Amino acid sequence: HAKEQGRNGFRFVTKEMGAKSRERMDLEGALRRAIREGELFLVYQPQVDTLTGRIVGLEALVRWNHPEEGLILPGRFLPVAEETGLVQAMGDWVLFEACAQIRRWRARFDLSIPVAVNVSGAQFRDGQLPAKVARALDANGLSGPELEIEVTESTLIDDVEAAAETLTALKRRGVLIALDDFGTGYSSLSYLHRLPIDKLKIDRSFIHDLSTGASDASVPRAIVGLGRSLGLSVIAEGVETQEQLQLLRDLACESYQGFLFSRPVPAEEVERLLEKLTAAHPVSAE
Ligand code: C2E
Ligand code: MG
Ligand code: MG
Ligand code: MG
Repeated sequence: HAKEQGRNGFRFVTKEMGAKSRERMDLEGALRRAIREGELFLVYQPQVDTLTGRIVGLEALVRWNHPEEGLILPGRFLPVAEETGLVQAMGDWVLFEACAQIRRWRARFDLSIPVAVNVSGAQFRDGQLPAKVARALDANGLSGPELEIEVTESTLIDDVEAAAETLTALKRRGVLIALDDFGTGYSSLSYLHRLPIDKLKIDRSFIHDLSTGASDASVPRAIVGLGRSLGLSVIAEGVETQEQLQLLRDLACESYQGFLFSRPVPAEEVERLLEKLTAAHPVSAE
């Protein structure tokens, strides 16, 4: 019956729109299966100290290994996941998988760096996030600061009061909070000091502009200054060139991530990086 209605509905849309919504429905079904059948996996991108070159963190990013189409990036399936509510199930999986991976790594390496997980707006606003985070941490014997939650500015500004409550609940459980894609929102900065945030992530569009001459370094410089005055750490996203890195050093931006150091890589490849990292500080035998 629902299908009949759907067909009637399609009569009034253009051919192109019909094709688009069909593709969307295909994608929805496939994504539902992907979550169930374990086709999703996480890759991790190192975050690096601009001065010492040491790895200071990792960001988990979701990937979909589609049986026919191969690798699909989140830019293609996240919009569908968000519109259909599947982002909840996907987000739960990401959170638990990241925490399980942290536990496995902690058992083998002297890992003191946090792993960041991205949380979408719907996930952040549904009110269950702090409880889910607590469960994922508890299930893996983690105390909290091993995990960082990334939210975008736009997620917070819709309802700053509600956001403050959720962030406070997350902080109470000990996790770190990063503000992703910072500088791209339309917000006033007045809410920043009222929110328990640990880190600002300078959006990669500003870093890209650094080397193209499209603009000067004023936005990254302002964000670094803002971070310093509010006592927040600042990381630059999307660093691809040595020139950009040098500019960030000149601005005293403390850390960066980007293709210059490493693309996001599978867990096994992170392990090779961690082996190098901990070679100088071996885990004591127990
Ligand atoms: P984001 O959180 O801002 O992640 C950074 C994106 O920039 C990643 O794209 C990463 O692969 C890419 N990137 C890193 N370094 C460079 C660089 O040097 N140059 C360029 N051009 N790009 C770089 P990705 O993995 O395709 O993710 C896109 C967005 O999808 C993420 O942006 C995030 O908003 C979202 N996302 C990814 N994983 C998850 C997830 O597990 N859950 C949720 N809710 N969202 C996710
Ligand atoms: Mg992110
Ligand atoms: Mg970002
Ligand atoms: Mg982004």
